[in-house]
Amino acid sequence: MPKDTLTLPTATAFADDVLSHLRVTLAKRASGATRHDWRVALSLAIRDRVVEPWLASVDRTYAANGKRVYYLSLEFLIGRLIEDVTINLGLEDVAREAMESLGQDYQSLVAEEPDAALGNGGLGRLAACFMDSLSTLGIPAHGYGIRYEHGLFEQHFKGGVQIETAEAWLAEHHVWEFERPEVRYDIGFGGHVDYDAEGRATWHPAEEVIAQGYDTPTVGWQAAWVNTLRLWAAKPIVHFDLEAFNRGDFIGATASEALARTLSRVLYPDDTTEQGRTLRLKQEYFFVAASLRDLLRRHLFEGHALSELPDHVAIQLNDTHPALAGPELIRLLVDEHGMAFAEAMRTARACLGYTNHTLLPEALERWSEGLMKQVLPRHYAIICLLNMESLDETGIAILENGSVKMGELAFFMAHKVNGVSALHTELVKETLFADLHRSYPDRIVNQTNGVTPRRWIHSANPALSSLITETIGEGWVSDLERLRELEPHVGTASFDEAFAVAKRANKARLSDWVARETGMALDPDAMFDIQIKRIHEYKRQLLNILETVALWNEIRDDPNGGWTPRVKIFGGKAAPGYVMAKSIIRLINDVAETVNADPVTRHLLRVVYPENYNVSMAERLIPACDLSEQISTAGKEASGTGNMKLSLNGALTVGTLDGANVEIREHVGAENFFLFGLTADEVGARRTRPGHARAAIEASPRLKRVLGQIANGLFSGGEARYGDILGMLWDTDYFLVTADFDSYYDIQRQIDVAYRDRAEWTRKAALQTARMGWFSSDRTIAGYAKDIWGAKSLL
Ligand SMILES: *Cc1c(COP(=O)(O)O)cnc(C)c1O
Repeated sequence: MPKDTLTLPTATAFADDVLSHLRVTLAKRASGATRHDWRVALSLAIRDRVVEPWLASVDRTYAANGKRVYYLSLEFLIGRLIEDVTINLGLEDVAREAMESLGQDYQSLVAEEPDAALGNGGLGRLAACFMDSLSTLGIPAHGYGIRYEHGLFEQHFKGGVQIETAEAWLAEHHVWEFERPEVRYDIGFGGHVDYDAEGRATWHPAEEVIAQGYDTPTVGWQAAWVNTLRLWAAKPIVHFDLEAFNRGDFIGATASEALARTLSRVLYPDDTTEQGRTLRLKQEYFFVAASLRDLLRRHLFEGHALSELPDHVAIQLNDTHPALAGPELIRLLVDEHGMAFAEAMRTARACLGYTNHTLLPEALERWSEGLMKQVLPRHYAIICLLNMESLDETGIAILENGSVKMGELAFFMAHKVNGVSALHTELVKETLFADLHRSYPDRIVNQTNGVTPRRWIHSANPALSSLITETIGEGWVSDLERLRELEPHVGTASFDEAFAVAKRANKARLSDWVARETGMALDPDAMFDIQIKRIHEYKRQLLNILETVALWNEIRDDPNGGWTPRVKIFGGKAAPGYVMAKSIIRLINDVAETVNADPVTRHLLRVVYPENYNVSMAERLIPACDLSEQISTAGKEASGTGNMKLSLNGALTVGTLDGANVEIREHVGAENFFLFGLTADEVGARRTRPGHARAAIEASPRLKRVLGQIANGLFSGGEARYGDILGMLWDTDYFLVTADFDSYYDIQRQIDVAYRDRAEWTRKAALQTARMGWFSSDRTIAGYAKDIWGAKSLL
């Protein structure tokens, strides 16, 4: 990778920059500065150093006159930026030393930055990793999304129950963004459409808001390239205000304000169920419409013809949330630029790519035709035309039973559709889009997800990163496959010992944090067994906690049975409206309380569930993990990226053959992966067997005992609290917790045995790191660039 050698300031010069911001930007003296002031001044001094490489990247993009990538995503789960940017700038040591010289502890200042949590989970974090890789690879790109005032809610536990409070990352000035008051577009909703004699449509929206851009630079490795994340905030239309007001239309006068206040206010804390339908649809249109107008403006400003759009523009739809981009691009080309419908459709399709993220039926977006017609009458008319085209070309409808099927719409309007792991892509071809796949056999491609090594190993795990650099030299951070060079060292006493020391240090560091947060003292020599992800039935935290109870029972039955000490760590939020997931959270907390208080077992088994899992917590937990829980019902996890982060940091995986687990297992070797459970094919067959759940429970005395204890209120003070979970398990058990229980329990006991051979465990752990290089999001983005976008690096 070519790199512009960075000229770094001295610590003294950098400290002067910080002091200058403190004084000139914040109007504070060092003596009167709060910790917040210091952090803001530090961030601004860092940000200053992003500006030149950013402008240079823009210049080079215009000069190259090539293709730009536009990544449209309703979510960007970014996390904190100080450390991320500092590391990409190579400024870490300088910044640390400078802050120290000013009497400030760099590490704790950095840890106080609020997480930018503009996403729910994997899908949003993927978008953030992709932005990092696009910049590192030097591919000109914009991320487009919404600048939510409130990101994902904060989770608290009260009596073990999840309580949600509003998150307020913008309560303090967000220093990383540049407000762009000149980048504004009017976005309309509702109203009616007129057609002239030639059939040309004019849409007269009933309400309008302004979308205003806010830009955050996304810095690539060593700042060789910097792209832009442009997030849209809704603002009221003021001139509209006055006209309506003068006509005496006071309600009309305030409508834009009311809509603007709500449109970019909240991120929907749920990617699987229906909530605030109308507002959500408006959000989707709002950011798609603003983004397309912005990229068309840029295209025309560069002097290109609209027919050349596909030569300069690649638009990627992160799931169906931005699927209105198809109809909106056609609308802009036809209604505003006079292009013929057929050509507009061809042009739009040549620009668009669609990434599918789920096969879960409840997560596949559908909007009622009534709502679509009411909110977006012109788009509804275009969708009706696309529906006829699709019926013509493929026999497959986009409109069905009164709803608009957004998956089919996105598929029809994209020239490439991709799944996010090899298994998922096969299932997309065979099940979800089987008919469309027959009509367009070349359209579906696979791009297995990846994670950025800058954040997920280099920044999160300094101990391991130093060891890697000492062993194989620099360069691996932007060329992760080079981790393979560790392999000859794995198994040598000196390397394995150093690897074990780094892991032990990370576990001690996490134990300190857990002690501070929860007051609980953990044993860093116990196995740290971690399941961190959104709480969902398909991810099967329930299976994990039931196995925890079974293990507790067995230890109590035979306290001197030579058990391997374990700490089970959970992290994750449930969507506020997802009753079963919230019940599972409470059960985990109830079990934790009982188990942790048991004097017989407490040195052998602990259950920890820190509140408010987010990117920053993930960065703490992942380097300290021994065992990574990736135990979803086979066929349900499209890819997973948590599985990659954990394995990359030297955790062994216990997992099903699901999502990217399949490929992780291929890379690390089957002998270094703890496989259990039904396969995707077997899951389908098992589910149709009547009474399968009851039969599985009756056949497993161990599981039956656990369910009996929960039913008797052993973990809930005698109260029958978990009728919903128990009823579900005995009855339908759609996610096959009961079917997989015994094989999960058995593999866990094999894992106990394996962990006792510490030298062998360490060797296998080190092999994970050595063999996970393929899972860099740099590899994923290179794949998109080649197979979908036709985009090139300008480095
Ligand atoms: C990586 C990540 C996820 C995705 O985890 P999965 O295990 O793949 O579901 C979710 N949330 C955060 C904060 C993450 O960093």
